[in-house]
Amino acid sequence: MAERLVTLLSAEQIAERVRELGKAITEDYRDRPLVLVLVLKGSFIFGGDLARAIDLRDCSVDFLGTRSYGEGTSSSGVVQITHDLSNPIEGKDVLIVEDIVDTGLTLAHLHDLLRTRRPRSVRICSLLHKPARSKIEVKIDYLGFTIEDRFVVGYGLDFAERYRNLPYIGVIEQE
Ligand code: 5GP
Repeated sequence: MAERLVTLLSAEQIAERVRELGKAITEDYRDRPLVLVLVLKGSFIFGGDLARAIDLRDCSVDFLGTRSYGEGTSSSGVVQITHDLSNPIEGKDVLIVEDIVDTGLTLAHLHDLLRTRRPRSVRICSLLHKPARSKIEVKIDYLGFTIEDRFVVGYGLDFAERYRNLPYIGVIEQE
């Protein structure tokens, strides 16, 4: 069966929202060193764009690799760390950058994990949120868009490792 991609959020819509998020984060962390923790792989494009929209002198970037999905489209609920941070975060202001909060299980786990390392603060920034599938309450401090319960791809998000390179966010439809 052929696949057709339907645009949910255009590159322009995303760029405008990322600029707004960057501005809000810049104002909130003014004069405070900030560590952006990008959750791989899905947030690599969002995180790259967001980092450039944050106008702070003291802003560093680190990466956390996780695996919570197999080849399919439903959450296993099991979060595996595949790549840990390269630097300690003790005493630092940390902002976790995630592509999408679906059940919330991944972020709840990551938030708890980073808290044990005694950072000064931990906040969450997610590009997308699917509240319909929430299994655990997660406070998203900076949110791009709330979306319906559809499996989305593009702008870093994959389906079996494909479509991460799309410049927009879309939904796959079978023709
Ligand atoms: P959660 O633990 O909140 O259920 O899932 C978080 C992770 O599941 C996300 O970081 C993302 O990798 C994956 N995920 C959840 N929903 C979607 C979706 O609609 N599309 C894609 N490509 N990945 C998703």
